[in-house]
Amino acid sequence: MNRYLKRRDKLRRRLRQAGLDGLLVTNFKNVTYLTGFTGDDSYLLILAQHDVLCSDQRFTTQLEEEVTDLEVEIRGPGHTMLGSVKKVMAQAKLRQVAFEAKSLTVATHAAFCQALEDFELVATDGWVEQLRLLKDAAEIARLRVACDQARRTWEVVRASLTPDMTECEVANQLEFHARRFGGKSLSFPPIVGVGPRAALPHGNPTQQVVGASDFTLIDWGVNEGLYVSDLTRILVTGRILPKLRKIYEIVLTAQLAAIAKIRPGVPAETVDRAAREIIAAAGYGKYFGHGLGHGLGLDVHEAPRLSKGQATPLAAGMVVTVEPGIYLPGWGGVRIEDDILVTRTGHEVLTSSVPQQLEECCVG
Ligand code: ZN
Ligand code: ZN
Repeated sequence: MNRYLKRRDKLRRRLRQAGLDGLLVTNFKNVTYLTGFTGDDSYLLILAQHDVLCSDQRFTTQLEEEVTDLEVEIRGPGHTMLGSVKKVMAQAKLRQVAFEAKSLTVATHAAFCQALEDFELVATDGWVEQLRLLKDAAEIARLRVACDQARRTWEVVRASLTPDMTECEVANQLEFHARRFGGKSLSFPPIVGVGPRAALPHGNPTQQVVGASDFTLIDWGVNEGLYVSDLTRILVTGRILPKLRKIYEIVLTAQLAAIAKIRPGVPAETVDRAAREIIAAAGYGKYFGHGLGHGLGLDVHEAPRLSKGQATPLAAGMVVTVEPGIYLPGWGGVRIEDDILVTRTGHEVLTSSVPQQLEECCVG
């Protein structure tokens, strides 16, 4: 059976259990996950017997190419999305319809309530996201491609970087090579922080030149078309001074200890704690001010979160980042980030081909 239909059937079962007639999917990433349609601006209605994708004429050809097993409702110019949704809902004689509470703005929700007043709208949260937690073989294959494109991008940038390049130029190079190696784009605007600017965990690239310090923090990832990778490495552009080596070794030890914990059944917060204890024991606990990692898939940040208070047990098929860091104002910061697949017996580091040892992170 087609993998998209299988996913929709899981939601159909859930609708039946909840005693609801339909689910209106408005999060575009969720629509893609459930249909294979890669465009946006389209809603999916999951009904008791069939499903309908509501879209518009800009996507007619793309829909013919990407969606084969689904009824499609295309509206013409001058017709609204909600008008189209209402028509399908009325034809199917729906009464109680679930919607995705988190994907609607206050304004869209108000418009929903007005246009769909003949139906009882029931807010739901995370139904599709829960399915997205566990990646199937096809998704894992695409994540591997995204990781490999990130590796190739890194190798070229590391080899070709010169001291006169600015953070912005490095960011440009990352984007350029990500596309050159087949990616659609970077997964997110990259972080490039020279020396002290690496102390800003999410610093935007500036005109600072790379040669102004001995090291630069680079956080990048590639969107291979749908699925994304997300890595961080320290690029050594000068000498490896003792302080950098010391901080780097603490962060790397913490990261490896956390990754070693990853296997099915382990609560997400246990993995976070493993890294945090090592950084705290070295005296830098208060300089690691963010969670250890996050899920990765169609979105750069999705479930599960690896942080304090997250009891969710890990399960085979989850993909998470592990990214401890130490940020010292005025000096700089070190973060090391890799992408990890939870397997049935433990884990696999999807980004293991991007070297972690400082000596292998030097320019040239
Ligand atoms: Zn990152
Ligand atoms: Zn990340």
